[in-house]
Amino acid sequence: MNFDLSEEQRIFQKAIRDFAEKEIAPLVERAEEEEVFPLELFPRMGRLGYLGIRYPEAYGGSGADKIAECIWAEELFRICRGIATSLFAHCHLGTFPIFGFGTEEQKIRFLCPANRGEKIAAFALTEPNAGSDIQSIEARATRSGNAYLLQGSKMFVTNGTFADYVLTAAYTDRRKGFEGISLLVVERGTPGFQVSRKLKKEGSRSSETAELTFEDCLIPEENLLGRREGGFRDILKTLVEGRVVVAAGATGVARAAFEAALRYAGERVAFGRPIGQFQAIGFKLADMATWIEISRTMIYRVAWMIDQKKPCTLEASMAKLFATEMAERVTSEAMQVFGGYSQMREFPVGRYWRDARQLKIGEGTSEIQRRIICHQLGLKTD
Ligand SMILES: Cc1cc2nc3c(=O)[nH]c(=O)nc-3n(C[C@H](O)[C@H](O)[C@H](O)COP(=O)(O)OP(=O)(O)OC[C@H]3O[C@@H](n4cnc5c(N)ncnc54)[C@H](O)[C@@H]3O)c2cc1C
Repeated sequence: MNFDLSEEQRIFQKAIRDFAEKEIAPLVERAEEEEVFPLELFPRMGRLGYLGIRYPEAYGGSGADKIAECIWAEELFRICRGIATSLFAHCHLGTFPIFGFGTEEQKIRFLCPANRGEKIAAFALTEPNAGSDIQSIEARATRSGNAYLLQGSKMFVTNGTFADYVLTAAYTDRRKGFEGISLLVVERGTPGFQVSRKLKKEGSRSSETAELTFEDCLIPEENLLGRREGGFRDILKTLVEGRVVVAAGATGVARAAFEAALRYAGERVAFGRPIGQFQAIGFKLADMATWIEISRTMIYRVAWMIDQKKPCTLEASMAKLFATEMAERVTSEAMQVFGGYSQMREFPVGRYWRDARQLKIGEGTSEIQRRIICHQLGLKTD
């Protein structure tokens, strides 16, 4: 067993940290305030190989492993959860199914330009009436000659406002239950495809989230992704592999809050000494550091399992559950350390907490993770 990062992983960690601190941090305040994603990041990160980090070089990627992807997420989410969320939606949710299940032609048309930052991807599974319960989605794609006629609407789609294509889940055969779901690549400009509204959010404000509608959208059959009626399994695989990246992102948000609280505890004086010298505050910081360490250790193990192609549905859910609940606790404790200043917008701890709160909801809620864990343990829960 070896707990060290490889030389290559360490170099990557330093490079992505430097990039996040120098190139992303200066954009955060404005992006959060205006609730607009800084689109110039896509081509810039594409040129540096920071978008397709897990995909082979033949598709414009960097060919890195899952541990590197988790390092990427921790460093980017540490600087700005909102911006990192949009990047995650592009680099994983909107492209992993193309790499994993698409044809060679689809990889060239959609994955390669996405890795270069020339096309932006999104992933649309959730609907106004169906989130956790994937089976109750209502979008339908019926066969029409050499195409599919798509009807439906999608909710909470990250990058939905500006994406060049949206991987969209819809029933191609409702009678088969979840086995009848397929994934279609819907391109911007397709007649009938509309961004119905941009949503205003509590957290991750700098990522753009939209509701989308599809009215009689004609989708050519070459835009069917993977096997027809094989979409459900492809979606689950995408979500399982994404959970550990979200967990790494949650660790990054927690680390940002912890680092800010540690600094503040050394500077803020009360009763004649820095507040970090009060055991009540010191113990909080000790707990925060410990939880972050546990979280990262779990995450690297799951990433290693994915790299070894070992099944990890149970471990990925445990890591997502622990890391996101941990991030909420750590960011909340950081606010306590900051006292009244935690409520002032000039300090980012309030943002860390708002951002952490939503991590328990996206990519499968905490309740859904516990349900998966029960199921994996052989427990029959409802
Ligand atoms: C900022 C943001 C970005 C997002 N980006 C995307 C995206 O890009 N693409 C996309 O497709 N979706 C996206 N989502 C949607 C996200 O994945 C869903 O919000 C999430 O899956 C939960 O679905 P829901 O909101 O419909 O809640 P519901 O499924 O309605 O759940 C409501 C509550 O009931 C609980 N619950 C539901 N079923 C059970 C059960 N069986 N047992 C116990 N408790 C249960 C849930 O845990 C939750 O607490 C995003 C959401 C947010 C907030």
